[in-house]
Amino acid sequence: MKVLVINAGSSSLKYQLIDMDLMEVMAKGLCERIGIDGSKLTHKNTAKGIEKVFEKEMKDHSDAISMVIDALVCPECGVISSMEEIGAVGHRVVHGSEIFADSCVIDEKVKEALNECSPLAPLHNPANIIGIEACEKIMPNVKQVAVFDTAFHQTMPAKAYMYALPYEYYEKYKIRKFGFHGTSHRFVSAEAAKMLGKSIEDLKIITCHLGNGSSVTAVDGGKCVDTSMGFTPLDGVVMGTRTGSMDPAVVTFIMENEGMTAKEVDALMNKKSGVFGVSGVSSDFRDLSKAKDEGNERAALAIDMFTYSVKKLIGSYAAAMGGVDAVVFTAGVGENDSESRKAIVDGLGFMGIKIDEELNKQRGKALDVSAADATVKTLVIPTNEELMIAIDTKRLIEG
Ligand code: AMP
Repeated sequence: MKVLVINAGSSSLKYQLIDMDLMEVMAKGLCERIGIDGSKLTHKNTAKGIEKVFEKEMKDHSDAISMVIDALVCPECGVISSMEEIGAVGHRVVHGSEIFADSCVIDEKVKEALNECSPLAPLHNPANIIGIEACEKIMPNVKQVAVFDTAFHQTMPAKAYMYALPYEYYEKYKIRKFGFHGTSHRFVSAEAAKMLGKSIEDLKIITCHLGNGSSVTAVDGGKCVDTSMGFTPLDGVVMGTRTGSMDPAVVTFIMENEGMTAKEVDALMNKKSGVFGVSGVSSDFRDLSKAKDEGNERAALAIDMFTYSVKKLIGSYAAAMGGVDAVVFTAGVGENDSESRKAIVDGLGFMGIKIDEELNKQRGKALDVSAADATVKTLVIPTNEELMIAIDTKRLIEG
């Protein structure tokens, strides 16, 4: 089966066509500036290594999907001979609220429920729904599956997901921890079990998805029992431009003293804070390391704050699970930044977490970087959310 994986944003749409028999990406690409002047599609035939840019007006997501299909069947850069070869479509959907604890085949009822989830992710879910409807219009006979960023975290117990606000706010607005990056945490925890040659049911794993947005998850027996992102992706680890956890009273203090509106302070915490806000240099860890090496103290402080916030979560999740068998690093920083990995696990030898510094220097591939005398494994595992979406899609379509 060939599965088309779609990640639709408000003005962009990313796609991959995956051959599930070979577990290989056949083609991938990106539609940009949908509904805006200057829209274009960049398509890559991965087997042949051919890239082609199609510059054509895309007035909406239906135009974008039509162009994706045209690119996939293009005689020059395409990978299939007709649309009929697409067996199913898997959609990334950001928020599934408490309704979706697993991926699901999309029908009218599911679409209604997706709309119900939209107030919880007003920037993302409506765009995801537009992507689904565009596919339904262009490929009416092809089954579609929704895969949620939040679903994996639905197994958290109430003591982990509730906030100590008056209970009515949970009842009225569903204010609780949802967690995000669930598809990535699920993928790398399953891969970790495979690497260790053990059943995931027998393992306690802490997965660290560290990228521009970062989250840490405690996975006990294959189930999420706690995660660091919360009601929104602002909570937890210090991130590229997001604050991570802090005293919520800071919000009202800034609003009062700077005369900021709720929207302004929200933008401040999401877009101008994190390692970018502290360093004043960049949200990109490569720029931060360079600045640190050149003696920039605030860049050094920002990196320290980031690694310290991850270290503390590893400690607290080991406590939450009553032990840990493996710590997994993934995503842009987790897979590539050996210095951050080293700083995060530094001093965790008392828990049995120790890395081999030579092995840890490698990057970008699945690797056990544990020291020979470590009792807890430290693994680097590249994440692959698209493949996880395609695997779920095939599972649900084939039953
Ligand atoms: P992601 O959100 O997973 O795409 O990750 C993006 C982040 O990964 C950015 O902050 C990049 O600086 C970081 N990153 C990517 N490659 C490297 C690298 N070689 N060393 C350090 N950080 C990296």
